[in-house]
Amino acid sequence: MSLKIRGRSLRRTDIKLTLWYILIFLVSSLIICGFLYLRLKHQLIKEVDLLLLDETKELKDFMVRYPNDLKGLKIFEEIEKSKAYYPLYFQIQDLDGEILFISDNFKGARSHGIDNVVVKVKENRVFWEDIYFPDRRRPFRFVASLFHPPAGSPVVIQMGTSLRFVRKSLSNFKSNLLMAIPIMVLLGSLGGWILARRSLSPIGYVVSKTQNITSQNLSERLEPRGTGDEMDDLIQTINGMIARLEGSFKRMAEFTADVSHELKTPLCAMRGEAEVLLSKTRNIEEYQEGLVHFIEQFDHLNRMINDLILLSKSDASQIELKMEPVRLDLLIKEVSGLFQILAGQKGLEWTTETPEEVRVMGDKGLLQQLVTNLMDNAIKYTPKGSIRVSLRKSQEKVFIKIQDTGVGIPREEQGNIFRRFYRVDKSRSRETGGVGLGLNIAEWIVHAHQGRIEVESELNRGSTFTVSLPILKI
Ligand code: ADP
Repeated sequence: MSLKIRGRSLRRTDIKLTLWYILIFLVSSLIICGFLYLRLKHQLIKEVDLLLLDETKELKDFMVRYPNDLKGLKIFEEIEKSKAYYPLYFQIQDLDGEILFISDNFKGARSHGIDNVVVKVKENRVFWEDIYFPDRRRPFRFVASLFHPPAGSPVVIQMGTSLRFVRKSLSNFKSNLLMAIPIMVLLGSLGGWILARRSLSPIGYVVSKTQNITSQNLSERLEPRGTGDEMDDLIQTINGMIARLEGSFKRMAEFTADVSHELKTPLCAMRGEAEVLLSKTRNIEEYQEGLVHFIEQFDHLNRMINDLILLSKSDASQIELKMEPVRLDLLIKEVSGLFQILAGQKGLEWTTETPEEVRVMGDKGLLQQLVTNLMDNAIKYTPKGSIRVSLRKSQEKVFIKIQDTGVGIPREEQGNIFRRFYRVDKSRSRETGGVGLGLNIAEWIVHAHQGRIEVESELNRGSTFTVSLPILKI
């Protein structure tokens, strides 16, 4: 395996997880086995201690049964000699340290100052110690205790046995553990590897599937496994993201098609008009009239292109709002003044009600465009009657209302009018110069100012557009 491939496989999560499993298994098995070993050692020594206490008690019984006599001790020694496991070593001494009796096996093995035991027993009554004899590999366990025989003076009984069997059991147990630990680690790692592979296998599917999704096949989706776990959540999230991308791509394609169509129509019309104009020699007035019409068409195209630039910038979040305190009442009066003249020319009655001084935090230029679009529509779609513009404020909000008595909007169309290039009646809108972008821009401006825009309308009776914006408190 080359170094590069090995490096890559070490970066793989399943291998990393398995290595972690191995480490955790190894450390936990060592801790568990160490604990079991110590527990067993403690238990075995405790049993030896109980045995020594039992035997000391039995020896005391013999001493009571045979007072002032070594016979009892001899019988006890003979009985104990016949036992193969845990041979007993014992001696009895008076409080001056003089040995009164010592078992045969203990004679050659004695190794330490006896005074020490007598002193310790006097202090503690029962004294435990592990003794290492110079000629023996394994230690001995001893208990020394004070005994007051019914007849005679108190003595110290020292009783011990070899820990050979304890050590042997412990070393057997240790060898078993050393065999078991690699098996446990091996099985644990195998389990860890299988678990890691199983839990990570959907990621491979997600990766290969998402790699194949391009702008050409955005309708494809990843298949959730139906387990309802985090992996399914991830698949659902990715599906949601693909769906949003698909929606954006679709809208972009529609937008491009709409833009091309909207630009093509006036251009074709202008070319046709130019051809008609050039088809024969005309007088100066006719040329002037044609050129004036061209200028109108250019203005219309220019407006549309400006709107499109604004919308595409807003889509790409490239517009930085120049937020500042704006006197909305003055702004409305100013724009109303201009439209009032247009309304007058069309024979429409115009009223503006801005009784209060109202401030909002906003981009003045965009707010001007917002009211311009709404007032422009009110005039365009009101053949006769009146238009009323009013401003009202509440505790938190300011309401701009633009009310007309125009053609109105059918109920079923009211949800669509804010969409791009949407026009209720295309032929009528084209006559009025509309391309279906004004309300979309108005809605974007309102949302950029954390506001709301609503429409109420009845066919042939008029429409009311209400914009609410957060008020700026002084
Ligand atoms: P346009 O440039 O065509 O006016 P808008 O986005 O401003 O585009 O408006 C979308 C459509 O909503 C218009 O085509 C028109 O049918 C309808 N509309 C907008 N304002 C009014 C209004 N005040 N009265 C009647 N219809 C309206």
